[in-house]
Amino acid sequence: MTSLSPQLCLLERLCNAIAISGDEGEVRRIVLEETRPLADTVRVDALGNVLVAKRASKRNPLKVLLAAHMDEVGFMVVSDEGDGFYQFETVGGLDVSQLAGKAVLIGKDHIPAVIGMKPVHLASEDDLKRKLTLDSLRLDTGRKNSKVQVGDRVGFATQFRRTGNSIFSKALDDRLGVATLIELLRHAPENIDLLLAFTVQEEVGLRGAKVAAHALAPDLVIAVDSTPARDLPAHDGRENTVYNTKLGLGPAIYIVDSSTLHNPRLVKHFAATGDAEGIPYQFRQPGGGGTDAGAMHQQLAGIPALSISVPGRYAHTPIGLCRLDDWQNTLRLLHAGLSHMTPSLLKR
Ligand SMILES: [Zn+2]
Repeated sequence: MTSLSPQLCLLERLCNAIAISGDEGEVRRIVLEETRPLADTVRVDALGNVLVAKRASKRNPLKVLLAAHMDEVGFMVVSDEGDGFYQFETVGGLDVSQLAGKAVLIGKDHIPAVIGMKPVHLASEDDLKRKLTLDSLRLDTGRKNSKVQVGDRVGFATQFRRTGNSIFSKALDDRLGVATLIELLRHAPENIDLLLAFTVQEEVGLRGAKVAAHALAPDLVIAVDSTPARDLPAHDGRENTVYNTKLGLGPAIYIVDSSTLHNPRLVKHFAATGDAEGIPYQFRQPGGGGTDAGAMHQQLAGIPALSISVPGRYAHTPIGLCRLDDWQNTLRLLHAGLSHMTPSLLKR
């Protein structure tokens, strides 16, 4: 499609922005700046979703909605304890046992802080056995900072890095999807009405997607996300044969997850597109987790839905890892699959 570096710059900007659920403004600003020159209409709804339309050049086109969520998991300041210490809550699915000692940024000014806990030197044997709980942790800014307010969102401080074919970053879930949608708009297929929803509050229950699907009333929806890859070597040294997705095998097409039974015609269409165009893809193995498709397919009178994700390791931690070529192949598969869509795709 285009040369790589502008795409990577966009992904880097999106990943380094902080957009914890319910406070997606930093990512929304980038999305608005990128989509306004390319789309026929761009609007922001009452929840903060960005809704974009690029009309087909042909008559009676399919209305295809692609959704990617702008929000990421993180924290919220809930109480000021003085001297730069703050109590906090998690926002979205996070494992509390992984949080101690992590660098974070608080609020719109990105005030640096660390998640503090009792040092290991002073921990008793009981302390070390006990499961870490949120009330034993504090945000520590080092000194009182008058700009930190109760309600401020807090994100991981990790900066985007690329080495060769690997990308290390926070929030690849789902800035990969957000960047993908912007790139598809740049090369919008002319055979469909391309509708895009950059959604809010996915990580706290697919909330933005519900109203976005309602507002745009598409013929079909595709959630574009990053799916956790569990492809580490098995602990006993044997080959891991129970991975759900694997890095390097291409975009993951979903058949089923805990929120959606994906539409078989759409699954078949994208698999056939991959086969015909020589684009690698994999089927995501059944398991937990869900995408915006879970909320969207139940709106209006029901909407056929599919999810296609870029596999990524270590989702919902300070640093995820994905492959550049998996992302590029996700873009290629989506672009080719959309370009070959006709209304007969959904006929029974
Ligand atoms: Zn996600």
